[in-house]
Amino acid sequence: MQGEGPSIGRRCAFVRLGGCNLSCRWCDTPYTWDWTGVGDSGVAYDPRSELHAMPYPEIRDRLAAYNVPLIVISGGEPLNQQTRLYPLVQELHGSGHKIEIETNGTIIPEPDLADLVRFNVSPKLRHSGDPESKRIVARALEVLATLPGAAFKFVCRTLADLDEVGALVERYGIGSVWVMPQGRNRGELEQTLAVLSDATISRGWNLTTRLHIMVWGDRRGV
Ligand code: SF4
Repeated sequence: MQGEGPSIGRRCAFVRLGGCNLSCRWCDTPYTWDWTGVGDSGVAYDPRSELHAMPYPEIRDRLAAYNVPLIVISGGEPLNQQTRLYPLVQELHGSGHKIEIETNGTIIPEPDLADLVRFNVSPKLRHSGDPESKRIVARALEVLATLPGAAFKFVCRTLADLDEVGALVERYGIGSVWVMPQGRNRGELEQTLAVLSDATISRGWNLTTRLHIMVWGDRRGV
């Protein structure tokens, strides 16, 4: 199930790719990139056990077996591998699937790929701990903001975070804005939603929770 953003609640299958060009301190998937323990958990994951090379026809067949209409490609940062991703996306699109790619908004997508998918773009704010020069790439945000259907999802904790979002929305002409609370359990999500909800709606933006956390908690593989 897609747990976040415009497709929240829809049945889907996930492709989770390894590697990321950022290192957000609160990242909820550090096992895709944190080999040295720089994240909040301090755990250094082992790429030999976390990453598995797989030919794309095998991925395609495994996805088809789920018999769901929506495929979500996430990471890590999937656009790090966009050239190798394209044949898979092309086949999934040809077999009638809708495809969403989750991206941190720092990489410009190839036009051929962009024609076949919808992007959920999640630019990172100051509280991620990433330097601005890495997390905000103007040209990538400008391109992504013009793509039809692109939705921008911002992880927020405080009302000051909404001001930071507002500045990015204005600077890059971002249309579809979703505010999502940071949180890795039901209590954190409820608390942060209570802080953010009225201010988000009054700015004319959308609000999303993290439905998979509400249902299953912070577990891998769901
Ligand atoms: S961009 Fe996403 S996957 Fe990469 S470190 Fe940040 S939260 Fe994690």
